[in-house]
This record gives sequence, structure tokens and C-alpha cells, in this order.
Amino acid sequence: MSEPTQVAIVGAGPAGLVLSHLLHLQGIESVILESRSREYVEKRIRAGLLEQRTVDLLISTGVGERLKREAMVHTGLNFQFEGERHRIPLDELTPGRNVTIYGQQEVVKDLIAARLAAGGVIHFEAAVESIQGLEGSRPVVRYRQNGTLVELEADYVAGCDGFHGVCRGAVANPKVYEKVYPFAWLGILAQVAPSCDELIYARHERGFALHTMRTPKLTRLYLQCPVEDSIEQWSDDRIWSELRTRLNIPGWSLADGPVVDKGITEMRSFVHEPMQHGRLFLAGDSAHIVPPTGAKGMNLAISDARVLAAAFIAHYKSGNQQLLERYTADCLPRVWRAQHFSWWWTTLFHRFEDEDAAFQQQLQVSQLRYMLSSRPALTSMAENYVGLERVV
Ligand SMILES: Cc1cc2nc3c(=O)[nH]c(=O)nc-3n(C[C@H](O)[C@H](O)[C@H](O)COP(=O)(O)OP(=O)(O)OC[C@H]3O[C@@H](n4cnc5c(N)ncnc54)[C@H](O)[C@@H]3O)c2cc1C
Repeated sequence: MSEPTQVAIVGAGPAGLVLSHLLHLQGIESVILESRSREYVEKRIRAGLLEQRTVDLLISTGVGERLKREAMVHTGLNFQFEGERHRIPLDELTPGRNVTIYGQQEVVKDLIAARLAAGGVIHFEAAVESIQGLEGSRPVVRYRQNGTLVELEADYVAGCDGFHGVCRGAVANPKVYEKVYPFAWLGILAQVAPSCDELIYARHERGFALHTMRTPKLTRLYLQCPVEDSIEQWSDDRIWSELRTRLNIPGWSLADGPVVDKGITEMRSFVHEPMQHGRLFLAGDSAHIVPPTGAKGMNLAISDARVLAAAFIAHYKSGNQQLLERYTADCLPRVWRAQHFSWWWTTLFHRFEDEDAAFQQQLQVSQLRYMLSSRPALTSMAENYVGLERVV
């Protein structure tokens, strides 16, 4: 048995770490249990685009010093179709709001450093196997560390253990909404300066491509690929050649460099309702997944953590249970807005092979052309892309 705590948090991803940090700022104790090593979670390459409100939260709660120094603020993005590239000025369309490039692993590093510096407890290589007593007053989380089964007792459990975690399974009678896309993303991280200052979303007849970055020296690139492809089928030469074909426009060239990370990710939209059961509350990917096209996954995870922290603070500071009771209802409007945006943005740029593919392609081009001709249509895209302050 390890020392009891107020909130047991399963998972040291963005959701679990932000939750633990926000609780600590209000004097509420938590213990984080993470199945992987510290080194592994600090190096795991995943998302990298922060919405304005995510940046504001990290800075205002004291974990944004390195972010302020090293992150890249983007005031626009590019989309490309029919061989032409168009820059969309996000800052003009959504005054005062931008997006920021800062790798998820950097957010994770900053949060782990802050938690440990403040005396926070994170058990790495501690894989949770089961949770008992969620309907009673003292749930118990069982985890395995160094081959030994350990029990952690808490007032509440936060399931921040991602899509493949164990916590979601403890929610009785869930309703699941799911859409699996008929293609995947092949992503690489390359040691080369970005070839464009801002993101490029390219719709091409051979499939979607995205040029993005993590630092001024690291470019992140993605290609739509068949879902059954394995990474062995994609040599570095083949990847660069395909990227050049899909991203090419006259007068611009894609710089290449050593590939330091590559992988294939399936594309899925998924929502699990409710996001709570007894004393368990799910946050982030454990409750919902979006295709990465809209760059919403990490932002949603941090948003859930913010809502859950406010609910725990109301409970511990003033005995008010209302926010805990309506946690799912408070999270879902933003989850569904992000679901819609991510699905729409995905359908706009990817090549579909369905029987009505030719029809869909015409719709994609029509919608992209319309956005370029309509400020209200572009503004609607932009305000979703930078992240809505309030969602009803
Ligand atoms: C492979 C992959 C690639 C991605 N790439 C992109 C991208 O390129 N762009 C983009 O916008 N978004 C991307 N995403 C989405 C984004 O990274 C996620 O939305 C984000 O990580 C969600 O944060 P989270 O804290 O909810 O979950 P996670 O970051 O997944 O954190 C969950 C943590 O729980 C731990 N855990 C799991 N099970 C247990 C257990 N039983 N016991 C203890 N700990 C456990 C895991 O090790 C992990 O550290 C990607 C996601 C994945 C999975």
C-alpha cells in the first residue's frame, strides 16, 4: 500500500500533468501513476500545435517560461489545392488570437519538471491494472511497479491514461460514438529547417500532405497513406519523393534531411459518454479521439483537465459537488465542436476511394474556393482552428 492521496491520476500525458499542476496550485494533493519511463514520455513525438487558450493557461499558471522563449507563434496557415497555395491570416480573422508550435513532449517536460520541483509525486513505470470501489467513498487503484502489485487509496481517480488505457473500461453502460477513416497518416520528423514559416495543408489527387514543424531545426511532415501500409514499405527516399509531389508548387522547394522518427497512425473519431462513473473521471484521449488534421487532441486533453481541476477545487474548497456532477455535460460541447471541426477539416483535404469519390472531390474544391471568396466562411474556419474561447 502506498501513501493515500486526494486524487489518484492515471497517466502522465498532457491531461494528467496539467490536472496535477492545477490541483497543486490550489493545495490539493495528487499522485500520478505512469506506465512508461520518464525518458520515454519526455521523448514521445506526438502533437505540436497549441491553441491560444492552451498557451494562455500554461503561461498564466507558471509553466510557460521556456514556451515563451522557444515556441513559434504562427499568425497564419496555408492551404493548397489545384496547384496553388493560399495564405490565411489567422490574426486578422480572429483578432488577438494565433496558434503556437511547441512539441507535446516539450509541454510534458515542462510540466514534469514543475511537478517534481514542487515536490509532486509521479511514479514512472507504474502500470495501473485495476481500480476498485469507484461507487464507495475510497477507491483503490492497483498498479504494478518492479513486479510488485501496489495499492493506492484516494478520494477520486482521474483516468488520463489515453486511448489504450484501462480506466475507460470501468465506466458502466457507456455510449460510444465512433468513425474510423479509410486511410492513415504516415508522419516523419526530419532534422532540417522548415521549408515554410507556417503550416501547409495540401489537397492533392494522390492524397493529403501536411508540412509542419516542431522547432526552427525540426520539420514534421505527414502523408495520407493506405491504412494497411506498414512503415517498412516506406523508405525515406519514397517518403521525400511523395512529399515533393504532393506539396510542390512553382517557385518553392521542400528541403530534406535525416529522418529521426517515423510512424503510421490510424485515423479515428471517437467519443465515450459519460466521461465519469462514481469517483472516476476521464480526461483527454481516454474519453475521446479526433483525427490529427485539426490539431485538437492535446488541446482538448488540456481543456478537460482544466474543467476537472475546477470541479475538484470547488469540491475541496467549498464542498460544492455540482461541478463534479456535471463534469461530462461541461466537457462535451467543446469535445463535439472539436469533433466536427476535425472531421470537416479531414474530409476537405483527403482523398476518398468510396463509390462517390468523384462527387466528394468536387465538393472539396467548391468548399475551398468558397472559403477563399468569403470572409465569414474563412472566419468560421479560423476561429475553430485557433480554438474557441467559449463553446455552448
Ligand atoms: C501515436 C500518436 C500520435 C499522435 N500524433 C499527433 C499529431 O501528430 N498531431 C496531433 O495534433 N495530435 C496527435 N496525437 C494526439 C495527441 O497527442 C493526444 O490527443 C494527446 O496525447 C492526448 O493527451 P492525453 O494526456 O489525454 O493522453 P496521452 O498523451 O496518451 O497520455 C496518456 C498516458 O497514460 C499512460 N498510460 C496508459 N495506460 C496506462 C496505465 N494502465 N497505467 C498507467 N499509465 C498509463 C500512457 O503511457 C501515457 O503517458 C497523437 C496521438 C497518438 C497516440
